[in-house]
Amino acid sequence: MILMNDFKADPFEMTDAVMKSVERVITSGRYVLGPELEKFESSWAEFCQSKTAVGVANGMDAIELMLRSANVGEGDEVITTPMTAFASVLAIIRSGATPVLADIDSNTALLSIDSVTRCLSKKTKAILLVHLYGHIAKMDEWVSFCKANNLILFEDCAQAHMASLGGKVAGSFGLAGAYSFYPTKNLGAVGDAGAVVTSNEEMAERVRVLRNYGQSVRYCHPDAGMNSRLDEIQAAILSEKLKWLKVFTNQRRFIATQYNKRINNNFVDLMSAPEHEDAHVHHLYVIKSVCRDKLQNYLLNCGIQTLIHYPIPIHHQTPCLSLGRDPQGLIKSENHSKVCLSLPCHPHMTQNQIDKVIDTVNAFNGS
Ligand SMILES: *Cc1c(COP(=O)(O)O)cnc(C)c1O
Repeated sequence: MILMNDFKADPFEMTDAVMKSVERVITSGRYVLGPELEKFESSWAEFCQSKTAVGVANGMDAIELMLRSANVGEGDEVITTPMTAFASVLAIIRSGATPVLADIDSNTALLSIDSVTRCLSKKTKAILLVHLYGHIAKMDEWVSFCKANNLILFEDCAQAHMASLGGKVAGSFGLAGAYSFYPTKNLGAVGDAGAVVTSNEEMAERVRVLRNYGQSVRYCHPDAGMNSRLDEIQAAILSEKLKWLKVFTNQRRFIATQYNKRINNNFVDLMSAPEHEDAHVHHLYVIKSVCRDKLQNYLLNCGIQTLIHYPIPIHHQTPCLSLGRDPQGLIKSENHSKVCLSLPCHPHMTQNQIDKVIDTVNAFNGS
């Protein structure tokens, strides 16, 4: 079976270094909020061209804490996309703010500025831009749109580690960016982990306080925070794996380039190419097909695992049925959810596996 992710195929050199780093932490006797976290935070901040990175427990908390640290909460509306992981929207709800859903651009499946414009109200405080599938686009337009409308720009970078446009990295365009290091992400821990990146030192300090019960100095709690710390073992593992992120990202791009060039089937449409190669890190390689479910079954029978990102748009999820949305509806998101299919695109795929995926997709005859 060709898998969507194949951690057992991680290079021995990396796994060996990861094991040694775990041993180092265990024997150090320091397990929470220690030197491994500080080390990872400073390398991740540098990587993200932000002044600071603050490690937290997961990507969803990173979004919630990013909003809270900027005083976005009750009474504020945050516009985002219904074509994302549920966590993006749940984090807005958890912050106390109200999510409002705008539609996507059908070529990229990314948030549409026109639709966001229709969602603006007096209460709109921020945009949560999701770099879906690892693709960042039109950042100049988003930055000026937010400036013109006096809105805060937040980035959900959970799928976009290392994506860059005009030399700027995901998470550095807006006030802050939220990262997830869930195992399947382009940089993944061995468990849950996340981070907020920002160049606003005041906000970073606020996240540090909020992730640790709202504690400023020991036993003093000026804020009702949460427990969302990133532990030393995961931080040490992330520092080791970070050394491989460039190589792995290049490999994802190599696979995507072959798919782009060689997938050719009347029942299959490709997504729009990025403005520039650096702008896409192919966390997911997504194709579209009007006979998506048949294609998925056929691929599975041929030994190829696929997934759907995402089969149910957020506004059809029970807790989100009454959320505000584009008055013209969210039709493009609905259509996308019916046709999208994610093919295996992980960095350990062999050339044989890449060829097999391409040949099998090309041989699909619609039934
Ligand atoms: C994975 C993901 C999240 C949530 O990250 P967790 O670490 O699982 O909490 C948020 N947004 C997007 C777009 C994601 O892909």
